[in-house]
Amino acid sequence: EGKLYLVPTPIGNLEDITIRAKKVLTDADYIAAEDTRTSGILLEKIGVHNRMISFHKYNSKERAPELIKLMKDGAVIAEISDAGMPVISDPGYILVQECIKNDIPVVPLPGPSAFATALIASGFDAQPFTYYGFLPRKSSEQKPYFEQMEKAKATSIFYEAPHRLAKTLKNLSTVLPADRKMVAARELTKIHEEFIRGTVQEVTDYFSKNAPRGEFVILISPNTEVPKQLSWPELIKLVNDLVAEG
Ligand code: SAM
Repeated sequence: EGKLYLVPTPIGNLEDITIRAKKVLTDADYIAAEDTRTSGILLEKIGVHNRMISFHKYNSKERAPELIKLMKDGAVIAEISDAGMPVISDPGYILVQECIKNDIPVVPLPGPSAFATALIASGFDAQPFTYYGFLPRKSSEQKPYFEQMEKAKATSIFYEAPHRLAKTLKNLSTVLPADRKMVAARELTKIHEEFIRGTVQEVTDYFSKNAPRGEFVILISPNTEVPKQLSWPELIKLVNDLVAEG
């Protein structure tokens, strides 16, 4: 029976490939890979030799029906992205939708993803959280997201490219309070793994002085302000004032 496996791959440390992921990649009829060159290197290193089909955001519309046809004819396809979980800020969503439409089983494997890896070490509440993926690039389009993070009772998580990080954080600091806590999780699972923890002000200042290098996940702590509760005397005064005002 044809089916689609969604297979997570390491986000840096090759030892994070699971035994099951390796088996599924070896046994599949085809591996649908976002970048066959990048994945070729990974598969070689983990000792998987199998056929690859390129499947990325620019060819996914045309490729999806071809892959569906293969699976309808009984092929087992394992989908991988360049790193981490397919579908999470990576291609794969269209194929999953098409499989569901066509009654083809979708089998997800658990494994590494940068946002969950960053979240569990952030020190922020993990329930609830909001994952935004990559924000829009334009500062004006980023602002509504930052306004939402400012009010959120959930931990906010987003991805940003290193060459855009300093500018994005500057923009963020115009919306979020300077004392809100944030974490920049850098190069997770790699040699230079690092957590830059502090207030919005401190982390923004840090990156304006130290050019960001490597891969980053940014986390913002929830808004913990409690709505002000009035005491009885305050409440009575408020009512009296309102009555006096007419
Ligand atoms: N599918 C991946 C996942 O499950 O996390 C995400 C792919 S997305 C195209 C790449 C972005 O993920 C990077 O720009 C960075 O923000 C984040 N990322 C990936 N690997 C990372 C790592 N080792 N450390 C920190 N962030 C990482």
